[in-house]
Amino acid sequence: MSLTVVGSIAFDAVTTPFGSRDKMLGGSAVHFSLASSFFTDVRVVGPVGDDFGDAEYAVLQRRGVNTDDIEKVQGGETFFWRGHYEYDLNTAHTDDTRLNVFGDFSPKLSAASRESDVLFLANIQPDLQREVREQSEAKFVALDSMNLWIETARESLLKTIEGVDCVLLNDAEIRMLTRRPNLVQAARELRALGPKVVVAKQGEYGAALLTEEGFFGLPAYPLETVNDPTGAGDSFAGGFVGYIAAAGGEDISHDTLCRAMAYGTAIASYNVEEFGTERVQRLTREEITSRVAELARITRFDDAPVALRA
Ligand code: AMP
Repeated sequence: MSLTVVGSIAFDAVTTPFGSRDKMLGGSAVHFSLASSFFTDVRVVGPVGDDFGDAEYAVLQRRGVNTDDIEKVQGGETFFWRGHYEYDLNTAHTDDTRLNVFGDFSPKLSAASRESDVLFLANIQPDLQREVREQSEAKFVALDSMNLWIETARESLLKTIEGVDCVLLNDAEIRMLTRRPNLVQAARELRALGPKVVVAKQGEYGAALLTEEGFFGLPAYPLETVNDPTGAGDSFAGGFVGYIAAAGGEDISHDTLCRAMAYGTAIASYNVEEFGTERVQRLTREEITSRVAELARITRFDDAPVALRA
């Protein structure tokens, strides 16, 4: 099934305890589309400025991502995000967000993007996400967001969530959005709004899936080297939603979603090994397959009960 993603296309300036970059290709839609390009045809929608050049287009095109729906705004500047991480790499600290061309962005999907079977609403202002959702004919729609929009546009985000099939958020964001401290209750509340599937991303601790059939948890792949977590959530989403698109059903089973979690986890683990998109640009399908197999191995155990004392 074909896949369209709408979200930020950005230049990021990032500092972590292990290094920094002043201006690197980033954005939720970019990380997502690189990850999902391993599974199906992907179209990326979003605005960029004059500063977005051939080198940046080439990163997406080398992975076969269709860039026809990237809108170049003459005289504009590309969305810019500056952030840093401390030793707790689970928390991104935003130092600067310049919406630039996103300030006046009014999404208009091309016929091809409208007709995509699967739509991912990557992290952007929730009103824009809803405008996109309303234009799309997709059979499966997933959404991501962030603390900024929960704080500044909560009602709009809740309204947008009502119109999607799947929500992927950090566990802290799910608690913040629902105002419920317990993740299972919070996820149930989100599911009551409409989405059948809720994924709680838990950074270095992995991710949890909640559906009608119950709960599934997967740890993050145990890495010795993490340099930059930027884009981990979007790469996870790209692997997860990409797998769903490749699995190709409208009725996506709990088991398929569990497998999709493993692909998301594997690709996210590569993403964080280096800065920005550096590692995923070189990623191969063999590397993805081997990490998924390793995840299956390290998360399996057979119970051998012993007599328990009363
Ligand atoms: P994550 O996968 O959650 O680490 O997301 C990282 C990406 O989110 C970065 O590449 C940023 O460019 C992008 N980003 C940061 N803030 C925003 C925002 N307010 N709206 C859209 N994208 C953002």
